[in-house]
Amino acid sequence: AESRRPPHVAMLVTPGMGHLIPLAELAKRLAARHGVTATLITFASTASATQRAFLASLPPTISALSLPPVDLSDLAPDAAIETLMSEECVRLIPALTAVLSELRETTRPVAFVADLFGADSFQAAVAAGVPRRYLFFPTNLLGLTLILHLPELDATVPGEFRDLAEPIRLPGCVPVPGKDILAPLQDKSNPSYRWMVHHGKRYLDADAILVNSFDAVEPDAIAALRVPEPGRPPVYNIGPLIQTNAASPAPRAACLDWLDRQPPKSVIFVSFGSGGSLPREQMHELALGLELSGQRFLWVVRSPSDEGALNANYYDAESKKDPLAYLPDGFVERTKDVGLLVPSWAPQIKVLAHQATGGFLVHCGWNSVLEGLVHGVPMLAWPLFAEQRQNAVMLADGIGAAIRMPETKKKDEIAATVREIMVGKGKGAEVRAKVLELQKAAEEGLAEGGAATVALDEVVRRWI
Ligand code: UDP
Repeated sequence: AESRRPPHVAMLVTPGMGHLIPLAELAKRLAARHGVTATLITFASTASATQRAFLASLPPTISALSLPPVDLSDLAPDAAIETLMSEECVRLIPALTAVLSELRETTRPVAFVADLFGADSFQAAVAAGVPRRYLFFPTNLLGLTLILHLPELDATVPGEFRDLAEPIRLPGCVPVPGKDILAPLQDKSNPSYRWMVHHGKRYLDADAILVNSFDAVEPDAIAALRVPEPGRPPVYNIGPLIQTNAASPAPRAACLDWLDRQPPKSVIFVSFGSGGSLPREQMHELALGLELSGQRFLWVVRSPSDEGALNANYYDAESKKDPLAYLPDGFVERTKDVGLLVPSWAPQIKVLAHQATGGFLVHCGWNSVLEGLVHGVPMLAWPLFAEQRQNAVMLADGIGAAIRMPETKKKDEIAATVREIMVGKGKGAEVRAKVLELQKAAEEGLAEGGAATVALDEVVRRWI
């Protein structure tokens, strides 16, 4: 009876919709193309209403279950998100082992997939007798290459990365100035740094690493990773996986009706991801900069971050207070004919797909970047936290799919870069051409015979 069951994949999702959504998309592709069923295993700490609604909307080939709550109260109150997720993962190994063993009673698990903070959970898969273990890396090859090199960098680079005179050079990757390297690596005395070095070692335990990127964005990095290295798992680019068939709330979002009334490619969409918000001062300059640019804009506005960390909203996308109250005096009235402000949340993929959208001021969260590329929207990079600064370097200095907002972030610079990305004849025109090229490559990669499809087929061939 066992062998007649469809092949099943168990996926451990560390907290964050940015991890859940691409893994769910992977599960959908596995079901549609290979008849593989899946269970998404989530942490109790992120059982938000948004997450529950999302899980409930998935097709019946994908099940979901939540691990029991874990006590993290012994950790420092200011522990980094990376530390919390990594600790939670390790503490959940016994519970996860039990869950995976139970799954074996009712399904035929052929593989276990963990995402970027979850490699320690491979132990649970081994203990439960799941035959293969994969790491799903939800960002890009630059991020993966960095983490894979961390044990070596840790041993050879003295002091803080941000104090290095030279940028960090990794095989096939754009040189990254130390200050732009992954946020949890910026303070080596913080436990989050140790955790990332640890993950760099544990990644080698995977049978293969699946990355949500595509060859055309990082051609040299994938070439470097394709050269086999003893002890390093093979790396497959299986992206871009972005959310498909998102449930459409009725009535249709008002911002889409507003976009319908704007000329083609005339609107810059401004969004800082699911949880990002700006310090009060920058929010003020951004408002005035958008106004000065003379371009139309659609801005997802959140209350400023001053009272908390830049990612204070990470677990909860709702701003606590009315974010419009923080805008400069008279701004809303003066810009009412050219701008639309949406508090807290907009249907981003639909906005990017809309013909009126011609630019994307983005925090460089990787899901947002992929959504921009899939829809051929040129980007203005305004990174905030996590790996967003190194993504901005890669997009602006590497592939040329974005212009980077100057660090000083004054209203005149903001206005000038907004104009350049939307209508400029120099850098702006180059970026606009580049994203169309990447859009085409992304689409071809996911089609029959395309690179991402072939890569996933190669992985799955071993399971069936
Ligand atoms: N998103 C959205 N509406 C918003 C803000 C964000 O739909 O107003 C979605 C966006 O489409 C993307 C995700 O939230 O899929 C954000 O993920 P990303 O990796 O870009 O950034 P993070 O939220 O992890 O910082």
